[in-house]
Amino acid sequence: MNIILLGPPGAGKGTQAARLVSERGMVQLSTGDMLRAAVKAGTPVGIEAKAVMDAGGLVSDAIVSALIGERLDQGVEKGAIFDGYPRTHAQAEALELLLAERGQALDYVIELDVDEAALIERIVGRYTCAACGAGYHDRFKEPAVAGVCDVCASTEFKRRPDDNADTVSTRMAEYRAKTAPILPFYDAKGIVRRVDGMADMDHVGAEIAAILST
Ligand SMILES: [Zn+2]
Repeated sequence: MNIILLGPPGAGKGTQAARLVSERGMVQLSTGDMLRAAVKAGTPVGIEAKAVMDAGGLVSDAIVSALIGERLDQGVEKGAIFDGYPRTHAQAEALELLLAERGQALDYVIELDVDEAALIERIVGRYTCAACGAGYHDRFKEPAVAGVCDVCASTEFKRRPDDNADTVSTRMAEYRAKTAPILPFYDAKGIVRRVDGMADMDHVGAEIAAILST
């Protein structure tokens, strides 16, 4: 079972990927991690990539394809979760070929769907205790006594500067721009499945499990 998991920042993609790794033994394949590992291990592709990077060049699609092929050949028995790749139509076609050459296929592209306005509310409202780090939310999780941390009784709280509506909107736009080139490709193949990313983590996890068991 090989999948691509997509979702904008704040949709819980990292959490769900971590679950698939720990519960199903799937392997998360991020091109950045694979590249570092190949360079460190001195594999043929790693040596080639290192030469390009040392010369100040960008690692080409051909090198990335070779890198993924090399990693697939090392075995991913329980399936792969492709992370941050493919980003373009050409890369999507290259991945299809890489998998087909190994008698495999991409089974599903699972997108964690979010309602942008609700996501903004979720992110903008969150804050933490400055002393112990306990998490709170203006609407969904206020301390039992207003202004006092439930855990450590501190009265100091903080918010991350990135947690504002503008930043979230920008991140959403970046996410859409990133996925726009590949979603139609996979939609046309009928393998895109959308899961409500606004539901709680367990519910999202159960929906993904249901998709993977079909
Ligand atoms: Zn606290």
